[in-house]
Amino acid sequence: MKFIEGARLVTDDELQANNITRYRVTRDYREQIAASGYYDQLKYIVEPSLQEFESHGSLDTSGEHDNTVVLGLQHKYAQTGLLLVTDRCASYCRYCFRKRMVGEESNEIAPDFARVAQYIGRHPEMTNVLLSGGDPFVLSTAKLNEILDHLLPIKHLESIRFGTKMVAFAPKRFDDSALSRLFQRIHEAGKAAIIVTHFDHIGEMSVEAQCKIRSLRAEGVQFLNQSVLLAKVNDDSEILAATFAKCHQIGVRPYYLFQARPVKGASHFQVSLRRGLEITRGINQRLSGIQKTFKYIMSHYTGKIEILDLGDDGRVYMRYHQNKNPEMIGKIFSRSYVEAACWLDDLHNE
Ligand code: SF4
Repeated sequence: MKFIEGARLVTDDELQANNITRYRVTRDYREQIAASGYYDQLKYIVEPSLQEFESHGSLDTSGEHDNTVVLGLQHKYAQTGLLLVTDRCASYCRYCFRKRMVGEESNEIAPDFARVAQYIGRHPEMTNVLLSGGDPFVLSTAKLNEILDHLLPIKHLESIRFGTKMVAFAPKRFDDSALSRLFQRIHEAGKAAIIVTHFDHIGEMSVEAQCKIRSLRAEGVQFLNQSVLLAKVNDDSEILAATFAKCHQIGVRPYYLFQARPVKGASHFQVSLRRGLEITRGINQRLSGIQKTFKYIMSHYTGKIEILDLGDDGRVYMRYHQNKNPEMIGKIFSRSYVEAACWLDDLHNE
């Protein structure tokens, strides 16, 4: 197998035992990153590295298993349902936090959307559903419509969200004229259609991707972007500021900048919280008020934690952006910083 560090002979058993994600990159993406001028950074997103064999961590860092209420549906935060609709993606990111299932024959994908809809129907506090996986846009438009057949009649759902990296990996997917009708159905049902793109770096934002976004926005689709802070890829204020500025310019609201998770086979992508805070400060210094709409977030087992600052007192200040317990939301708390800490559990609980 070809790794960034050179070719190595590896057995299937070794790959499986180390949860090495299957290798797959679309031609469009390969050409885009080669021509971007940033290949030396962007190759780490999709090209396998021998570091994956030595990266320690967990395969379920945010408690997805514990929050599964119906097979394929997670209900961690009151207002949001997270629906796993596929285990496939157009290309595979080496840092994926769902590497336990992407590119695999997973048994975590929702098999029965009628049961999912029944559950949601009984939970009026749930106002939005996020279709995720894997990447929902690897599914045919007919299959996506079939899923919507179950979700659109639910009155208390206000929005349908699609989490996707397809705009970066295979923008031609959005040439499908049947998608216009799909988004129109969502709108006719009185709900917002939202695409959450996943651009980590301005070098991933092809001209074609930007065109597709502009035309979908003209059809009323709203766009947000989430990025992951990744060592060697985008741990650079200037690059992330340029990425968020470009998003803003084409009508995509920067939303989350995720601290990379301590995922088995991918924890080498983590940067320390100290470095992450320096980078986010640098991004904010470079952006206008209307561009800095992102939050620096750690998606932890206990909730979504906004990472605010490392004070002169040596403490990391954080706030629960989302938590199962509504009482915790918005509460600022702090932990003593430990040098090179990358995750809440690395900090001293004092
Ligand atoms: S596109 Fe998303 S789900 Fe697929 S491999 Fe990349 S990070 Fe994981």
